[in-house]
Amino acid sequence: MTNKEDDKMAKAETMYIVIPCYNEEEMLPITARALIGKLDMLIAEEKISPDSKVMFVDDGSKDKTWNLIERFHRSCEMFTGLKLSKNRGHQNALLAGLITAKDYADIVVSMDADLQDDVNAIDGFLEKRAQGCEIVYGARSSRETDTAFKRGTAQAYYKILSHMGVDITYNHADYRLMSKKAIEALEQFDEVNLFLRGIVPMVGYKSDIVTYERAERQAGESKYPLKKMLAFAIEGITSLSVKPIRLITTLGFLIFVISIIMLIYFLVIYFMGKTVAGWTTTVVSVWALGGLQLLAIGVIGEYIGKIYLETKSRPKYIIETNLENEEY
Ligand code: UDP
Ligand code: MG
Repeated sequence: MTNKEDDKMAKAETMYIVIPCYNEEEMLPITARALIGKLDMLIAEEKISPDSKVMFVDDGSKDKTWNLIERFHRSCEMFTGLKLSKNRGHQNALLAGLITAKDYADIVVSMDADLQDDVNAIDGFLEKRAQGCEIVYGARSSRETDTAFKRGTAQAYYKILSHMGVDITYNHADYRLMSKKAIEALEQFDEVNLFLRGIVPMVGYKSDIVTYERAERQAGESKYPLKKMLAFAIEGITSLSVKPIRLITTLGFLIFVISIIMLIYFLVIYFMGKTVAGWTTTVVSVWALGGLQLLAIGVIGEYIGKIYLETKSRPKYIIETNLENEEY
């Protein structure tokens, strides 16, 4: 261990920055400029090797995103790219990038194309890396730039997740540094239902957190409208926890106990000679139980759907082009 720091000084590691991009033609030139500036600086400071690159992953964009990536690649060898065969979503695009980049790099930083994550946090990541961390999580220190709604729902969501026993870094999106070793471990997690933020902590190894201020999206629109956000939130819970199923069992048990108490109550009233108001109780209980049963079936169905997808073990992404293999 004592020589480790000397080794680092002797040979800086190769770093790849992986950026998943979906219809980001407006944002990409700005992002590319910012990242190349950052890489140049880090290379000049000898914190990373001159072989370091930015890898854009085109997640089946419908606009000119891929043309731009190819153009960047041809104009500067520090840019490289990966084209997926179709849109597979942020998490899959990110995984494709991580797994591909680790073959060329010692460390991989992942971030979004919109520059909401402060690129200067990478210095902090590298410091932690020099101390021997295999994973460094970027966590935003405040959420002032998000809407009050997004902030509130996100906070509630982290609380729910931690109640469900899911180990997740608070206020951490997918901005993090992972070493080759950590990504190789991640690769062994074969799940199709991917929620990287929940799976990466399961890898273990020495890790740490670096906090930064999160900015607003500079161009283009959020690719996460409410509907996608909700789907992602449900995915997070159901791919990591079976607590909802247990909750239903508890609920069913409780309702059973309540119905016994009700039964006794009505029997007592009956023997005291007072008639039961039959219609109301019947209708209410039919509706209440019907609703609960549907809900329960829905939740169980959610998990069965997961099992269905997992057993098929379809590929999570298909790479159409990897610019690292192209000759220009
Ligand atoms: N993204 C992607 N595939 C998708 C949707 C989004 O690769 O199907 C990328 C997008 O280009 C961006 C990142 O995922 O780089 C995060 O998306 P966005 O910034 O729109 O999400 P938000 O920050 O609003 O949650
Ligand atoms: Mg964003």
